[in-house]
Amino acid sequence: MSNLSLNIAKFGGTSVANFGAMSNCANIVRANSATRVVVVSAAAGITNLLVELAHKALTKEQINATIKQIEAIEYAILNDLGNPAPVKAKLDELLSHARELAHHEEILHRPDLKDAILSLGERMSSLLFTEVLKGIGVKAENFDVRKVLRTDDTYGEAAPQLNEIRTLANELLRPEMADCVLVTQGFVGADAQGNTTTLGRGGSDFTAALLAEALDAQTCEIWTDVVGVYTTDPRITPAAKPLPELSFEEAAEMATFGAKVLHPATMEPALRQDIRVFVGSSKEPEKGGTWIARDCKEEPHYRAITRRKEQVMVTVKTPKMMHAQGFLQKVFTIIADHNLSVDLITTSEIAVAFTLDNPSNSVAERLNRETLAELKEICEVVIENDYDLVTVVGNNMNSAAGVSSRIFAAVKNFNLRMICYGANPHNMSFLVHAKDSTDVVKELHSELFE
Ligand code: ADP
Ligand code: ASP
Ligand code: MG
Repeated sequence: MSNLSLNIAKFGGTSVANFGAMSNCANIVRANSATRVVVVSAAAGITNLLVELAHKALTKEQINATIKQIEAIEYAILNDLGNPAPVKAKLDELLSHARELAHHEEILHRPDLKDAILSLGERMSSLLFTEVLKGIGVKAENFDVRKVLRTDDTYGEAAPQLNEIRTLANELLRPEMADCVLVTQGFVGADAQGNTTTLGRGGSDFTAALLAEALDAQTCEIWTDVVGVYTTDPRITPAAKPLPELSFEEAAEMATFGAKVLHPATMEPALRQDIRVFVGSSKEPEKGGTWIARDCKEEPHYRAITRRKEQVMVTVKTPKMMHAQGFLQKVFTIIADHNLSVDLITTSEIAVAFTLDNPSNSVAERLNRETLAELKEICEVVIENDYDLVTVVGNNMNSAAGVSSRIFAAVKNFNLRMICYGANPHNMSFLVHAKDSTDVVKELHSELFE
């Protein structure tokens, strides 16, 4: 079923951090009658606190102190509402659920309990944001995303089930959005048994794109704390510039290789359904932002530079590899069995080196540990930590003359542990020591964009 005009708007953590920030977002929603579904993140800082409760062995006092911090942030918003009474009871219920889960004796060992507690940030912010919308005269309802966002049961990094999501969203969400704006939770889902799951850190962008796809929306807006996607993370260099437009491919490469402004999977639904994605600042909506679409006016060789931190480099060696057919296959079967994605690979006659993403407390980190143990059974494994991956994203990079030499000239003074170039026209990546990565990005930025 298609719509005359449907927009899904997502507001990130800093955009819903307090009542003032939420009010800016509410005005953005009211200004666009095509916005019928709003996806919100947890208020800034809340998910980090919930992660501590879920992953750290804390004393009872520490748990109580952490809950108090969460409560303070949520209550500050509640108390700024014109009429807090109707939602206070619901907020208190969610807070006491957080308290119960945090004190549960198995919280550190049960991924289902971890996801249940992690989901509470979005459930609280969506409750409060609905009231902020009502406060400025927008007819709004809070909608429990778990009714429609069906996932598998990979807690912590659950995979969305696209067909079910489409069916459920059209059955349960679409009829309600005709009448009012629905405010729902990013990052959260539920498996077929109804257990709460989460999509991985930063997953609210992905939720918005998934709902846009399921509802055949024309546009999806990602409202955040920067006025669009920049040539590089503006926190790395003040010389970074906002980009007015990007292609789906460029944005997907940027997100995959570390541009935190978009969750890595966000562009997949957009690409499948040709949904135009906008990225802008909820604080300064008048400044415009970046439009991401299938075709762009220009497709420059160099578009942006990204960085992904916390990479491990794994080298597997075996003398048997000499003429030993099937070794590579065994190595990559183990990796595939654990659902890990490898970014860079190099091979020599007796060794293969590759990189894995290793953010602490992630599902990937746990899988990495299990994978490495299995690899050690068949070969010698050397693990090196403290690397970052720096990537230049662009177009036709593997075919145009001189494109790579300019990049190499910019990084000539750094120790490049691994290089990946040629397989894909959209990127060139370097593995560098973490201590050098800021300077590598700055040098590249200065050479290519300033
Ligand atoms: P939200 O909470 O709204 O989801 P995030 O913190 O996840 O916001 O993403 C926004 C942040 O992404 C920015 O503050 C910025 O520091 C970072 N970022 C990284 N790379 C880029 C980039 N290329 N362009 C814009 N922002 C970027
Ligand atoms: N609240 C979640 C996080 O902090 C999801 C999101 O903000 O996108 O990771
Ligand atoms: Mg984000």
